[in-house]
Amino acid sequence: MLTIDGSTGEGGGQILRTGLSLSMITGQPVTIERIRARRPKPGLMRQHLACVLAAQAVSGAQVSGAELGSQTLVFEPGALRPGEHRFAVGSAGSCLLVLQTVLPALMLADAPSQISLSGGTHNPLAPNFHFIERAFLPQLARMGAAVGLSLRRHGFYPAGGGEMLAAIEPAVGGLRPFDLMERGAPRESFAESLVAAVPRRVAERELAALGDALGWSGEQLRIPNVRQNEGPGNALMLTLAHEHVTEVFTSLGERALSSEQVAARLLREVRAHQGSTAAVGPHLADQLALPAALAVHRSGRAMAYTCSEATEHLRSNLAVIQRFLPLRI
Ligand code: ATP
Repeated sequence: MLTIDGSTGEGGGQILRTGLSLSMITGQPVTIERIRARRPKPGLMRQHLACVLAAQAVSGAQVSGAELGSQTLVFEPGALRPGEHRFAVGSAGSCLLVLQTVLPALMLADAPSQISLSGGTHNPLAPNFHFIERAFLPQLARMGAAVGLSLRRHGFYPAGGGEMLAAIEPAVGGLRPFDLMERGAPRESFAESLVAAVPRRVAERELAALGDALGWSGEQLRIPNVRQNEGPGNALMLTLAHEHVTEVFTSLGERALSSEQVAARLLREVRAHQGSTAAVGPHLADQLALPAALAVHRSGRAMAYTCSEATEHLRSNLAVIQRFLPLRI
């Protein structure tokens, strides 16, 4: 039994999710103590409980402490169960964080899986559907795992109600490492504002603010069709596609913020990225850490990537990885 202290480093939900993923993959039972101890409301929130229950379903684990508010979890995984699974994350929870928990194991399983998820698809403090589809999955594909996503219905925080599917083809013969040191030549850059049950002029003002700041116009500023009964919600997203990597930056609309403030928040992130020559931004950097570690561990070959910022979140993630896998990072 491995014991992980959930209060170390960033002390948030990532320690739990990475711990669950690695326990499922390695078969190593784990006790996670002091879960989310550095958060104002420590312990398992509904979102984290959904991740635990999904990991249990996919690995047939014996689990104790899987309750709301629980600060200790004992997780003893069984054999992986690829195939069809359905997870209802609940109104405010993120489908993508549940997928983040189970995907590493399922992409190394011996059979394909189809996962249907309901809950939030565009939540604060979580990767959204478009980020995973455009930024994260192409890098997994380079390692040999083919994952297709489809969005049936948007789910915006806090109402949720989104529906999405993930079809996972495992990497035959394990994941392959590769180096991602630079972005490569620019390919495409555009911004989108999703509005559901929010006035269209909100999107128009957000895009106008971005357009003014970046000198973008026309085709680069888009308002995709979203069914109005999928709201209320607004997500302003900016996609920068390069030869080797695509990044998606997102700022979610909030009642207390003007359209211009939503755009300004997004611009700060984009400017920081443009001011660096690193291949990936802070979020992609921390999400690539586990697949990269698995690719290195299985192949015995090294992998390197550059990132604009090594966050506390990334460092905590790496610390959990090193508890399970004998790697130098
Ligand atoms: P807690 O409430 O305990 O902090 P949590 O599980 O809700 O935990 P984090 O531990 O902060 O949240 O993890 C958030 C995850 O979402 C990380 O994988 C991070 O990379 C990702 N993430 C957050 N914001 C974005 C964003 N704007 N774009 C892409 N990914 C994001």
